[in-house]
Amino acid sequence: HLSERDGYAPLNSDFDNFYIRRLQLRINDCFRRPVTGVPGRFITLLDRKSDNFNLSFQLTGTTTETLNMSSYNYLGFAQSEGECADAAEQSIKKYGISFCSPRADVGTSELHVEVERQIAEFVGKPAATVYSMGFVTNATIFPALVGKGCLLISDQLNHASIRFGARLSGAVIDMFKHNDMSHLERLLRERISQGQPRTHRPWRKILVVVEGLYSMEGTMCNLPGLVALKKKYRFNLYVDEAHSIGALGPRGRGVCDYFGIDTCEVDILMGTFTKSFGANGGYITSTKAVIDKIRAINAGSIFGESPTPAVLTQIQTSLKIIAGDIAPGQGEERLQRLAFNSRYLRLGLKRLGFIIYGHDDSPIIPLLLYHPAKIPAFSHEMLKRKIAIVVVGYPATPLISSRARFCVSAAHTKDDLDRLLAACDQAGDVLQLKFSSGIAGGQ
Ligand code: PMP
Repeated sequence: HLSERDGYAPLNSDFDNFYIRRLQLRINDCFRRPVTGVPGRFITLLDRKSDNFNLSFQLTGTTTETLNMSSYNYLGFAQSEGECADAAEQSIKKYGISFCSPRADVGTSELHVEVERQIAEFVGKPAATVYSMGFVTNATIFPALVGKGCLLISDQLNHASIRFGARLSGAVIDMFKHNDMSHLERLLRERISQGQPRTHRPWRKILVVVEGLYSMEGTMCNLPGLVALKKKYRFNLYVDEAHSIGALGPRGRGVCDYFGIDTCEVDILMGTFTKSFGANGGYITSTKAVIDKIRAINAGSIFGESPTPAVLTQIQTSLKIIAGDIAPGQGEERLQRLAFNSRYLRLGLKRLGFIIYGHDDSPIIPLLLYHPAKIPAFSHEMLKRKIAIVVVGYPATPLISSRARFCVSAAHTKDDLDRLLAACDQAGDVLQLKFSSGIAGGQ
């Protein structure tokens, strides 16, 4: 056997630094949390025997049904019954499980064409193209949009897939403080030769990249502020709507719908089908010229498999329901339920005296636990009460702002949220998490 002393580095040798070890513990923990069934309103945990830090565990053969506050199932389309599931079943019978090659090889199915038409129309853009994963969409799109001689300015809290793709592009990358429009403007001014943006512009293209709704903070991008800056500094704007499409706006059409801003103000509206649509994959929407160029040169769609037939059918059917084309009233009801649930839970937690982050209308609600030691303790208190949540800590958050994160769904009932609030109330007392006796007047 070769050892590190012989100058040989095994492939896992980099895992030993402090940061990776912490990350690994968290990741290991999720691999050690076996679940079964649909990740809908409830999620079923497979009970384990051992609780050590090994990846392996033994199942006891019993299960525990928990209230699921951890899936991004915003509109409740994670389900095994109903219009979507029936249509997906028919789709498998007609098209099989997989296209078994990228579109560039086998060709484009009628399902691709229809889903691309539908999502473009839903988002309010002239054209769209779809990918098998949301991560792959961001990870491969940026080299098709910007490259050497271009400037990409990214919000500090943008998702890992955006960072990944941005690095791959070869553009110069700058970062602005989360949602801080004056910092973004300062960077733009510095980068575009002060005072004379029109006469001297040292960049081939400038692309500013943000998310619609941030999944660790529950904050929304400042779209009106970004559009105002875009008019002044003439950059291209890219908004990742992974968490906002289907979840925000009176018609569920994302941040433009929420702020009442025309979608032509944003150059690229990207999104994923994994959250509000209960499916898989990602999309890019833009002008026809941009989409044609992306189709021709984007490695992610040329060399990679596209979403599978049943997944495309799930997307198609959920989009039809949200838009009210089938099952009249159901889409609207889901949107209203989500909006009500988000505000109800947020208000309830504030009344109990917790510090929570994010926008009032965000279905993602981070509850501050502060000390890292309270992460497993809070998770344990919730599991004791049969509630599954996500807990997040360093290095994904600053060391002293560890948090629990609740993802609200249209599938949750008011009773579910009351049950969660009662559990938080008790756990908050045990772990001394409440900051005050609640907001004045309970507003
Ligand atoms: N963008 C954002 C903002 C995300 O939060 C995620 C994943 N949660 C992705 C992209 C990647 O999407 P997917 O999980 O569908 O691959």
